[in-house]
Amino acid sequence: MKRISIFGSTGSIGESTVDLIARAPEDYDVVVLTGGRNVVRLAEQAIALRADLAVTCYPDKKQELESRLSGSGIAVAAGPEAIVEAAARPADWLMSAIVGAAGLPPGLAALEQGTTLALANKESLVCAGELLMRTARAHSATILPVDSEHSAVAQALVGEDISSVERVIITASGGAFRDWPLERLVEATPEQASTHPNWAMGQRITVDSASMFNKALELIETREYFGFSPEQIEVVVHPQSLIHAMVGFRDGALMAHMGPADMRHAIGYALHYPERRTLPVERLDLVAIGKLEFRAPCEERWPALRLSREVMATRGLAGAVFNAAKEHALDAFLDRRIRFTDMVAVVEEVLEAMDRDGMLDCEQMTLDAVLQTDHLARIRAAEIVAHLKTDA
Ligand code: NDP
Repeated sequence: MKRISIFGSTGSIGESTVDLIARAPEDYDVVVLTGGRNVVRLAEQAIALRADLAVTCYPDKKQELESRLSGSGIAVAAGPEAIVEAAARPADWLMSAIVGAAGLPPGLAALEQGTTLALANKESLVCAGELLMRTARAHSATILPVDSEHSAVAQALVGEDISSVERVIITASGGAFRDWPLERLVEATPEQASTHPNWAMGQRITVDSASMFNKALELIETREYFGFSPEQIEVVVHPQSLIHAMVGFRDGALMAHMGPADMRHAIGYALHYPERRTLPVERLDLVAIGKLEFRAPCEERWPALRLSREVMATRGLAGAVFNAAKEHALDAFLDRRIRFTDMVAVVEEVLEAMDRDGMLDCEQMTLDAVLQTDHLARIRAAEIVAHLKTDA
């Protein structure tokens, strides 16, 4: 039986993972499930999957979780430290699907135990790619990408010599505002930004898709995980979201990975890797689809892409600053304290300020340095947000 843990089990990726596990419970021994505010669902999942331990990141939710699990024999814990401790519990495979930089410490703790990390939490690679990859190597642990684009690239690379790769193209749907007139973006509301044309995802990544911050994070993720140079990595807008990524080889071949917009494919691939097992996802009907469309990304509409290129060139702690400032700006937009178009301005200003103060460099990346930088970047972002005059 494979011992598995799901971190962020109550979220969109977490629920898709639970769905796959629940279809073959006899194959899995569920060690840990973690969630946040939604302890009702966390308790239901823990009982259904017979987990050993359920953890909420919020200490004030512990009592409610305990009462929902009382008599079940399932242990309960709460708080960020308890999440990290739970990640160090022996397991064969751990789904990292917490949203945001909070996913980094448990991801590292799992790798230190040699646990295979199925990584949906792209923020870990953006904040601390060098540290994460080094920790995996030091403990002979495997990281399997779960982001659909990165899973697609990994699948296109099976059996290939990485030095024969000329370029990698990751696709972007363009999100909610792909076809909006540019001048209307300034008035975009959180509700409008929280709809996605193709994918059903958590709210934060959905808004990040509208601003292209999600693709910006994915560019950095591609660089950190596969080691390609920034010049080798391209983005193309593909409104249908059926091709997730393409790998171009030096002989001119372009290997495209196609699949339905259903994260259970990438999750299932990582769960059964290196085997391919039957998955409950739609089979594409190419004739019904008819045609595929591709467009160049417009940097005026999506300036986050330009910023991510600067972050890739700088490396060091620039990714941690970029992500933390983005997370703060996103909260401010969702709370209607700033406008949609202000988010990128906040991130750019934080990056520039911390660069001026020499805070993007680091000789050897440590978790403490990343967390401290994350903290300082959020303080800077809060100052900038407070100064922005907005009628959002
Ligand atoms: P959701 O917001 O749907 O779920 C996030 C999960 O993390 C929930 O279980 C939530 O608990 C928990 N959580 C929230 N904050 C914290 C915290 N501070 N500490 C610990 N746990 C926390 O996110 P998604 O499932 O959409 O995304 C998860 C990750 O996967 C992100 O990094 C995202 O970028 C990535 N990803 C998502 C894709 C998708 O299709 N959704 C596709 C590719 C990548 P609760 O809800 O109980 O409060």
